[in-house]
Amino acid sequence: MTTISILGSTGSIGTQALSLVKLHPDRFQVTALTAHSNKDLLFEQVRAFRPQMAGLTQPIPESEIPEDLRFCRFVMGHDALRVAAAEIPADEVLVSVVGIAGLEGVMAALNAGRQVLLANKEALVTGGHLVTDAARRIGKPLLPVDSEHSAIFQCLQGAAPNKPRRILLTASGGPFRTWKREDIENATREQALKHPNWSMGAKITVDSASMFNKALEIMEVRWLFGMQPRDIQVVVHPQSIVHSAVEFDDGAVLAQLGVPDMRVPIQYAMAYPERLTTGCEPLDLFKVGTLTFEPGDPVRFPALRLAVECLEAGGAACTVLNGANEAANAAFLRGEIPFGGITRLVEAALDRLTGLPADTLADIYAADRMAREVVAERIGRL
Ligand code: NAD
Ligand code: MG
Repeated sequence: MTTISILGSTGSIGTQALSLVKLHPDRFQVTALTAHSNKDLLFEQVRAFRPQMAGLTQPIPESEIPEDLRFCRFVMGHDALRVAAAEIPADEVLVSVVGIAGLEGVMAALNAGRQVLLANKEALVTGGHLVTDAARRIGKPLLPVDSEHSAIFQCLQGAAPNKPRRILLTASGGPFRTWKREDIENATREQALKHPNWSMGAKITVDSASMFNKALEIMEVRWLFGMQPRDIQVVVHPQSIVHSAVEFDDGAVLAQLGVPDMRVPIQYAMAYPERLTTGCEPLDLFKVGTLTFEPGDPVRFPALRLAVECLEAGGAACTVLNGANEAANAAFLRGEIPFGGITRLVEAALDRLTGLPADTLADIYAADRMAREVVAERIGRL
């Protein structure tokens, strides 16, 4: 029996992870669950999975906790992530919180010696060196949940001591893959939220449309697999069947394929190194028929260029990109800026905030705050 705590249990990844627990009740037992504000779904999950602890980062009064859930210890507010990640014993901690809020949970879990299953990408983007150092210190590899990184991780099983010479990082291209630049600029919220292949939370869906998601994923590859930006090739593959590939010195390329269903990479991290059933459709290559590949376009999607520039700049550049993108993405979802404004605000923050350090968590949070301030200041002037 594997015990698992899930930070961000009410989200797209969190609920799918719980569906896998439900499918394999003899394999997994839930020990802690946290959510931000969706208390009704959290209560339902506590009732179904009976964890020792549950938390809401947006606090509610004690009196709102239903009578029948009193067996569970509820932690409200800022402490919820830390208690779930580090105080409650668990074999695995799945961090599926969205945004830089995940960094704290990841660090708390690693510092407590826990095996981390990493769905949250912003933690690696902002605190990559701290997170990978902490994982190395405890001798437990970070198990990626992001589908591309899970694919790469799967392709590297048994490869050591060979290192890949290149990573082929696939991207669906999102809903605006074939759109003209001017049309992308004025895309609506509804259009941005219509992802062709994946059903995900709102923030990452908008990031997929702007391709800031791929920018964050290039940074994830940097930290998870120690690759330099020049050795990471983004490959736009609209069918989302090849989830990424690795190329070795002899020219061999290994890829992982499957239907676009996050339960596969979530399960792989949860049961690693075993594989369990997921309930997902088997891949029917005859039905898929054709797989196509094209280069990413850094002119229509400047995020692809900005990712490489930020990695090369080092320091807190990736944190600035991430913080500005989180703030601009949220502003777009609130209807305050046009879609094209997201990229312009991130560029403004990167232009303004150069050379910031990212040596400590305090440096990282400071850079994140400054990036959000630049965005807040510029929104009215777009
Ligand atoms: P989501 O918006 O559906 O869920 C986010 C979860 O985090 C919710 O449980 C929410 O309550 C919690 N949360 C939100 N803000 C929080 C805060 N400030 N503090 C603490 N908890 C907070 O998001 P998602 O789509 O499940 O994505 C989660 C993470 O996984 C993201 O980093 C995303 O990039 C990554 N990811 C998601 C997918 C996917 O298919 N959804 C794929 C790859 C990677
Ligand atoms: Mg991904």
